[in-house]
Amino acid sequence: MLFSDVDRLRSIAGQVGPLQVIYGGKAHPKDEGGKSLIRHVFQSANILRDTVPVVYLKEYDMTIAKLLCTGVDVWLNTPQKPQEASGTSGMKAALNGVPSLSVLDGWWIEGCVEGVTGWAIGDSWEAESSPSKEIASLYEKLKYLIIPMFYGRPNQFAHIMRSAIALNASFYTAQRMMSQYLQNAYFAA
Ligand SMILES: *Cc1c(COP(=O)(O)O)cnc(C)c1O
Repeated sequence: MLFSDVDRLRSIAGQVGPLQVIYGGKAHPKDEGGKSLIRHVFQSANILRDTVPVVYLKEYDMTIAKLLCTGVDVWLNTPQKPQEASGTSGMKAALNGVPSLSVLDGWWIEGCVEGVTGWAIGDSWEAESSPSKEIASLYEKLKYLIIPMFYGRPNQFAHIMRSAIALNASFYTAQRMMSQYLQNAYFAA
């Protein structure tokens, strides 16, 4: 989704402020669709190499996830609705004060408080993904909201980071997960 219009991304980075992208994740050896998406990321990275640095971290595992979830400025998650099972990695980011910019799917349907804990890509959770609307929303939020705030209003950005901890990280814990499994599934009958 991020690379659906590389010219647009290049112009946003040029006009609004520098941008760098770090990918983590891997495809199952038999997942041809997943492997072809990763090839597309590499092709786009090559096209953008002079304006937007893109790296793809190989062998994504807990050690790398720990660095990524704690070290980035925004956690971008772009699943196709309604296929996001949960989105645990966005919760791990929130625990580290990293706000999400994500499609409203999985945990983000509940966790997103727009402009407070992060930002939604698109504006409704009921429907299936509408790629063109979501792509427009992603680029618009980066261009008009998130990058200008990051560079121009760092105090406001830091406030969002703190709200991600206060509202998301305090709620999306393994303790809450286990007690909801017990209440809603195991002991529900
Ligand atoms: C958190 C984590 C995942 C799960 O990522 P999601 O974005 O929730 O699908 C997968 N692999 C590793 C190594 C992780 O740390």
